[in-house]
Amino acid sequence: MNSHWIYGAPNLTHSMNPNPQVLVVGGGPGGAAAGYWLAKAGVSVTVVEKKKYPRDKTCGDGLTPRAIHQLLAMGFEFDIPTMHRINGLRAYAGSSKIEIPWPEHTIYPNWGGVIRRADLDMDVAQLAAKQGAVVRDGTEAHAVLEDGVLAGVELKIKGESGEIETERLEPDIVVVADGSLSRFGRALGTERRRDYPYGMAVRGYFESPNSHDDMLESQLHIMDSQGRTMPGYGWIFPLGDGTINVGAGALSSFKGWKDINTSRILESYVDGLPGYWEVTMDSKLTRPLGGKLPMAMSVGPKVGRNWIAIGDASGAVNPFNGEGIDYAYETARLASGYIIEALGSGDLTRLRRYEDALEDEYGDYHRVARAFVIAVGNPAVMRTLTSIGIRSKPLMEWVLKVMANLLEPEEFGMAERVYHIIEKLVKVGPEPLIRSR
Ligand SMILES: Cc1cc2nc3c(=O)[nH]c(=O)nc-3n(C[C@H](O)[C@H](O)[C@H](O)COP(=O)(O)OP(=O)(O)OC[C@H]3O[C@@H](n4cnc5c(N)ncnc54)[C@H](O)[C@@H]3O)c2cc1C
Repeated sequence: MNSHWIYGAPNLTHSMNPNPQVLVVGGGPGGAAAGYWLAKAGVSVTVVEKKKYPRDKTCGDGLTPRAIHQLLAMGFEFDIPTMHRINGLRAYAGSSKIEIPWPEHTIYPNWGGVIRRADLDMDVAQLAAKQGAVVRDGTEAHAVLEDGVLAGVELKIKGESGEIETERLEPDIVVVADGSLSRFGRALGTERRRDYPYGMAVRGYFESPNSHDDMLESQLHIMDSQGRTMPGYGWIFPLGDGTINVGAGALSSFKGWKDINTSRILESYVDGLPGYWEVTMDSKLTRPLGGKLPMAMSVGPKVGRNWIAIGDASGAVNPFNGEGIDYAYETARLASGYIIEALGSGDLTRLRRYEDALEDEYGDYHRVARAFVIAVGNPAVMRTLTSIGIRSKPLMEWVLKVMANLLEPEEFGMAERVYHIIEKLVKVGPEPLIRSR
């Protein structure tokens, strides 16, 4: 047996259960959190991750208060040197600047963080293992279908010298947590809605003397090669260890989307950075890497007869700001509740309630977000909004709350009303601002 039990911690001896009740495909934030919540409830669960921990994932490494809230719930140890604490956001629109602390909220903490994904994801996988989940890295899952139904999972396990062993499991339920490309999900018939927006982003690491900054920094005026303001933003997320994560992302609602070259956008963003970062493209530590961000629950179906999709595999990224780590944790926790119920009752149709729960939790927010994303796809709208917003601290405080999904429940109706006011204010351009409601 060449599978790799992470950490091999002697106090974490897991019984060798060839057929766990639940198999989780993917050991990123979603998969590891599902492993945690299921194991905590006493479910026998195995998480398989095709790469070996610590594994990197192309990301901005930024955690908003929603992500911190989920990590706290899982007992994450925050006093580790790899986690850099963040107190708010510094936003630029061109050379105009504003600084806003994270808002006070009745549920979420008023702080965030930046941590490399190689560290974060391994630490959360370890939390799942401590609860009793079996976590196997270097193990890739493939769906075995019979008459179009998921009948089992074939595992391909890479040995030390590169040889591949195979093994077949037949769990009761499979959690699809294999990220934005979601090949496992696609084999089960999931697809991304083409009429929903999605994002593309690229990031690299740099050394900087300002790495201990306690603010996330973003530039809201990013431009394509023709000088048009694009929906999206450039970011610097400081890691507190002498390095910073620098990236830029754009949204598919932009009219010139097909011609976008995210690497060039990153280059011109880095060229224009404030001097205190002391960064140029020549001082990069790593080659910039990019990835896709499936948004607004754009991937479905999210539930099949014996499977359930979470995180990026369900398109859970927030369209307002491109965060997906927190939504991977949240959807994992939500899905785990329905899995526990389905296993407890022996009635797998109960999994279907997960889709309704997602709609209750995120439906209104995503409807506003989708409309907003389409509106800001118009360069004139994007320019107008950022230049109005950056001049008003109360407005930007409110915008941060909306974008990071930190509104109190009673504030949400107000968000929608204010969105419609903004929509009227910036009615420019030949296309209707809202196409997808
Ligand atoms: C450039 C960029 C910057 C971003 N910045 C941020 C940010 O700052 N903050 C934020 O919150 N979000 C950010 N995101 C989004 C965030 O990275 C994702 O939303 C998040 O990683 C989703 O977690 P997940 O568990 O669903 O998927 P993933 O993190 O992608 O994890 C999926 C895992 O499944 C594994 N896997 C895939 N197929 C198989 C298989 N067949 N068998 C076994 N394992 C498999 C993969 O190796 C991977 O480890 C960014 C995304 C990009 C592209």
